[in-house]
Amino acid sequence: MRSLAERLARPEILSLPPFDISAQANGLFAPDAVKLDANENPYPPLDGGALAEGINRYPEPQPAQLKAAMAALYGVAPDSLIVTRGGDDGIDLLVRTFCRPGVDAVSICPPTFAAYGHFARLQGARLIEAPLDRNFDFDADGFLAMAGSDPDLKLAFLCSPNNPTGNPVEPATILRVAEALPDTILVVDEAYIEFSELESLAAEAMRRANLVVLRTLSKAYGLAGARVGALIGHPDTIAMTARALPPYPLPTLSIAAAVAALSPARRPLHAERIARIKAERERLADLLETSGSVRSVRRGGGNFLFLEVDEPEALAARLRQLGIRLRFRPNAAPGGVRVSVGNDEENAALLAAFGIGRPQPGSRRAEIVRETKETRIAVSLDLDSASPRRIETGLPFYDHMLDQVAAHGGFSLVLRCDGDLEIDAHHSVEDCAIAFGQALARALADRRGIGRFGFALPMDEAEAQVLIDLSGRPYSLFEGEFGASHIGAYPTEMTAHVFRSLADTLGAAIHVQVRGANDHHKTEACFKAFGRALRQAIAREGDGSAVPSTKGVL
Ligand SMILES: *Cc1c(COP(=O)(O)O)cnc(C)c1O
Repeated sequence: MRSLAERLARPEILSLPPFDISAQANGLFAPDAVKLDANENPYPPLDGGALAEGINRYPEPQPAQLKAAMAALYGVAPDSLIVTRGGDDGIDLLVRTFCRPGVDAVSICPPTFAAYGHFARLQGARLIEAPLDRNFDFDADGFLAMAGSDPDLKLAFLCSPNNPTGNPVEPATILRVAEALPDTILVVDEAYIEFSELESLAAEAMRRANLVVLRTLSKAYGLAGARVGALIGHPDTIAMTARALPPYPLPTLSIAAAVAALSPARRPLHAERIARIKAERERLADLLETSGSVRSVRRGGGNFLFLEVDEPEALAARLRQLGIRLRFRPNAAPGGVRVSVGNDEENAALLAAFGIGRPQPGSRRAEIVRETKETRIAVSLDLDSASPRRIETGLPFYDHMLDQVAAHGGFSLVLRCDGDLEIDAHHSVEDCAIAFGQALARALADRRGIGRFGFALPMDEAEAQVLIDLSGRPYSLFEGEFGASHIGAYPTEMTAHVFRSLADTLGAAIHVQVRGANDHHKTEACFKAFGRALRQAIAREGDGSAVPSTKGVL
C-alpha cells in the first residue's frame, strides 16, 4: 500500500531521480581517505584557524553527528528527523514537497508566523485562513468546519506557542485535529516550546503519517545566525520531504556551531539561560502591566510578550529616539507589539522607555566554557542569587565539596564536567577549579563594592581556616596533611591543587590551614570555610561602587 506521503507528494517529487552525491558514500571510507571525488580544492583557506578546518570540503548532506545529537535532544529516532536550515527551511521544504501550484491548499490560523503564508504563496498554493478566536486561541471546531472539507488541503500549520501572541495549543487538541484530517499533514511549529510548559509532540509525530513537528536551535539555543532546525515526522514523510533538499544544505560552520552548542556538558547552561529568560518574561510582564499606556500584556509561552498599547505611533517614535527595536504587529491587533525578552541591560532600557525604571545594580553573572582533549566543562554562576545549584563533575564527593562552596558562599552555581575519569580524577578536579575560578573572576569584573575576608570553621574534631584577599594577584598557601589517598574517587592530594587553581584564575590570595583526624571532615571543612570566606568577600558593600583598596583599583 502506498504511504500517505506517496499519496500526497507532488508528482514532480515522486519522479525525481535520487541524488547522486559521492559524499553520501562517506560511511564507506575512513576520514583520511584520498578524496578526489567531488572537485573540491585540496587547500584549506589561507587564514587557517579552527573555524576554517575542513571548509575546503563539501559538508555531509545530512551531518550524522548533528542529526544524532538533535534526535537525542528531541527524543526521536534519527530516521524521523531531517536537519534543515532553520525552521523556515522546514516550512519551505514541506510546501514544495506536497503542494501543486494552483491546486493544493495550505491552511494557517492568523495572526501567526508570516513564513507559512509566504512560502505557500511562493509555491502558488491556495491559502486558507482560519483565524484564531477573539482571545487568540485556536478554535479546533471552527477550523475543521472551515478547512476540513477541502479535499486538496495538504498542509495545516499550527504554531504552539503561537508567534506573536504566545498562546499555546494543547497537544490533545492537535491530536484530535490530526485524527479528524487523516489526509492532511498537520505541521506543528514548536519554535518556542522550550520556553513553555507544553509537552512536545515530536515522539507522537514519529509514529503518525500526518503529523510533522518543526524545531529550531535559533531561539532556545541562541543560534539564529547559524540557521539550524529540524523537521520531525514519520520516516516515510521525512524521507519524502528530504527529496526536496538541495545537495548540501548546511554550511560546515553552522554544523560545527550546532554540534558544539548541543554538547552534553553545555546542556545545564542552556537550561539555566532558558529558565532566566522565562523568569524575566514574568518580571517584565508584571512591570509592564503597571504602565498606563499598556492596555494588555500576554505572557504566553515564548521568549517574548505581546502587548496592546494605546498609542502605538507615539511609542514607535519614542523607541526610535531611544534606539530600541520592538516588533509592531498592527495586523494582529490594533496597538499590537511583540517584545522579545532581552538581557538585563536591554530589559532595563525597555522598562525605562515605558517610564518604569528602578536603577538596579549591574548583574554579577558569568558563564565559562572550557574544553580540552581531557575535559569539557561549562560553568554558570550568579553571585547575587542563591539558586540554582547543580554540580555534576562525575565525582560525587567533589560535587558535594563544590556545592558546599556555593551554598556557604550564598551564590548559584551550575557546573558540568565531562572528563577523562577513565584515566583518573586529576584532570577533572583541576580543570573544574580553573573554570570555576575563571567564572568567579569574570562575575566580579572590576571588583567594585566588595570586601576582602576570611573565615574559620570547626567540623567535629577537624578545623579549617581560610583567608581570602580578592586582590587581583594570585597567591596560594596550603597547610595541612591527609592520611588517606582518596575519598571515594576523589584524590585527597587534589585539595591543595584546587585552591591553587582557584587562586590563579580568580586572582586572589587564598590561604588555607586545616588540621584534624578525619580526612572527609578536614576536606569538607576547607571547602565550607572557603565558601564562607568568599561569601563575605563578595558581599556588596554600601552602594556597591567603592573599590576596596586605597589604590582605587584591584
Ligand atoms: C523564529 C521562528 C521559526 C524559525 O526560525 P528559524 O530561525 O528559521 O529556525 C519558526 N517558527 C516560528 C513561529 C518562529 O517564530
